[in-house]
Amino acid sequence: MNIYSKYIILLIVVAGLGFSGYLGQRFHEKESAAIATEFRKDVDDKASALEREILLNIEVLYAFRGLFDSSEHVTAKEFARIAQSFIVRHQDIYAIEWAPRITHQQREPFELTQQLLFTDFEITQKLASGMLVAEQQHSEYFPIAYVEPVAGNEFALGYNLASNSTRMAALAVSRDLDLVVASASTPLLGQGRQQYGTLVSIPVYQGLPKNVIKRREQIKGFVLLVLKVSDMFDRAVQRTAAKGIYFTLEDRTLGSEIEVLYSNQTIPMQFSVAQSDFSYTKPLASVGRRNWSINAIPSLGYIAERRSMMPYLITAIGWVFVLLGSAYVYALLRRTTLIEEEVAQRTQALEEAKLKLEQLSQTDALTKIANRRFFDEAFNHEWLRAVRQGSSLGLMMIDIDHFKLYNDTYGHQAGDECLAAVAQAIEQTLNRKADVVARYGGEEFVVLLPDTKDCVVPAQRCLANIEALAIPHRASPTSNYITVSIGVSIALPKQDSRSEAFIHQTDIALYEAKRSGRNRVEIADGALLSL
Ligand code: GH3
Ligand code: MG
Ligand code: MG
Repeated sequence: MNIYSKYIILLIVVAGLGFSGYLGQRFHEKESAAIATEFRKDVDDKASALEREILLNIEVLYAFRGLFDSSEHVTAKEFARIAQSFIVRHQDIYAIEWAPRITHQQREPFELTQQLLFTDFEITQKLASGMLVAEQQHSEYFPIAYVEPVAGNEFALGYNLASNSTRMAALAVSRDLDLVVASASTPLLGQGRQQYGTLVSIPVYQGLPKNVIKRREQIKGFVLLVLKVSDMFDRAVQRTAAKGIYFTLEDRTLGSEIEVLYSNQTIPMQFSVAQSDFSYTKPLASVGRRNWSINAIPSLGYIAERRSMMPYLITAIGWVFVLLGSAYVYALLRRTTLIEEEVAQRTQALEEAKLKLEQLSQTDALTKIANRRFFDEAFNHEWLRAVRQGSSLGLMMIDIDHFKLYNDTYGHQAGDECLAAVAQAIEQTLNRKADVVARYGGEEFVVLLPDTKDCVVPAQRCLANIEALAIPHRASPTSNYITVSIGVSIALPKQDSRSEAFIHQTDIALYEAKRSGRNRVEIADGALLSL
């Protein structure tokens, strides 16, 4: 397997793992979005439940205003009776109070002429900033005359609301604009648990004053409601399902200063990032001109309950698939490579075997030089080339003299060895690469000399070299050693020349060499060349 395949597989593995991880992550995000939506819905449900709870209580204030409107003088007894009936039904109410206006000394509170120039809004702002209140404090009192239940609230009786400038500022807004106003929250005492109370007031007028001046003149007093914030919140929250949410009720009226009025359970010091991501703040509809909001964070349990294993499963399954798939592809590629290597090896072995077979089929087993078959092919090939190129072709036919006698004298085995020795001697005599030396048959050899004009010299060298082998041949009438007779011939073959005639004339030359005494070179008759 090459290095590129490995890199590609590695790339696919990395990309596959990355993609699986990405898919898991996307799924996780989708799940988070669904949890966040559900969480907000849960919080919104609780917020509206709390808003309803508050409105229900404020209705009590309107009921009391109706009571004071309809009767010139509401007695303490009357007040107590009605207040008790409300307290029984409205469990968030800590106390209901009546604070009438008592004018101590009739003094012009401020320049009326000047005040008429201001709009309601401007006056409200001035009151809030304390500019106008100081004047009023000395002239008016709003002592708490009635309180219900009395038990535990005795200290409130006679308390002048105007003595506290902040509270009076809130009451002034309530009076001047005919509004239900909540003042800042204060801790409540004597309750089963520590909790905040918030004071909500409604103004009661003589008649129906139409503007600020008239309202200030005609104010009879305030009905006040002290609400138990924690109880109210708990009641609202318990009406809706969804457990495991940390709630805080915050008063953000002052903008930068956030006052925590209530927390539904012990809030951990720190939240995990997973939790903080879901953090949600829901502002409530204005409660007596105070900006309250619910801040909610889910518990780890809340998130865990809504999380599934899917993102992890998707990633894990993706990884397993990618790894298995890649391993499979890797194994497949490796197998292919191994097969390719084996095929290449076998092909090479086959090629070698084929070459060997080819050489074997062209080689004479005894003498190890080319055989007759090879010679025939080479001869045809060279003949055609000579015709094509107009070159000459030389041919030698060599025959061992009295070889029958040699066999008879020394045995067939010795005859074989002699044949091999003569063949080697001939081959070594001819040093041109193009020359072809072959065993023609029996004790006869043939030498083809392409592009050669003179065959006699190489023929004589052959003759000498074989004689120089000095293979004893005591039965030979020609010499004491093995000798050969050689017939040579040269052809300049033309298109219509016959190659058989060329071989034939060489054969005749050999016959001539034999006839004229052996151990010699005989050149073919030139007349035959033109054949
Ligand atoms: P000449 O000088 O006229 O050529 O006489 P010669 O005896 O060489 O010729 P002849 O054709 O009568 O005999 C050839 C002998 O060569 C006959 C045969 O036994 C022998 N011979 C041919 N092939 C082989 C071979 O492969 N091995 C052996 N040992 N002898 C062979
Ligand atoms: Mg012969
Ligand atoms: Mg012979």
